[in-house]
Amino acid sequence: MGIKRLTRQRRAVLEVVQHAKGYHPDAAWVYGEVRKAVPNISLGTVYRTLEALTEDGYLMPLSRPGEAIRYDANLDGHLHLTCRKCGEFFDIVAPLPDLLSGVRAKYPEFELEGVQVEYQGVCQKCKNVDG
Ligand SMILES: [Zn+2]
Ligand SMILES: [Zn+2]
Repeated sequence: MGIKRLTRQRRAVLEVVQHAKGYHPDAAWVYGEVRKAVPNISLGTVYRTLEALTEDGYLMPLSRPGEAIRYDANLDGHLHLTCRKCGEFFDIVAPLPDLLSGVRAKYPEFELEGVQVEYQGVCQKCKNVDG
């Protein structure tokens, strides 16, 4: 990474996601932000740019059924807390449990590539709204 040259639009989109630290924005949010830097960009371009940045390994997509894809610029392996009310993802800053090696040892015939875990609950903001 970093070798490939990014066009100005791609760089602007990537920077918006990277600067949304701790927040995992969707395309609509990125569009609103990136227009401050690139006023004539279209929503379609933002969608395509986010997809291309994901394919090139700059962003990690977070998807849940029925919700817009959110994008994570933090590529260090980390888990998320997810809020079932607002759908927000929060990074967990804690050592990763080893979820693979035990299963890999037990099912050697299966070519294990990864695991997805998310912790679910209600975030502080949503909890406060409910009182
Ligand atoms: Zn919430
Ligand atoms: Zn994250």
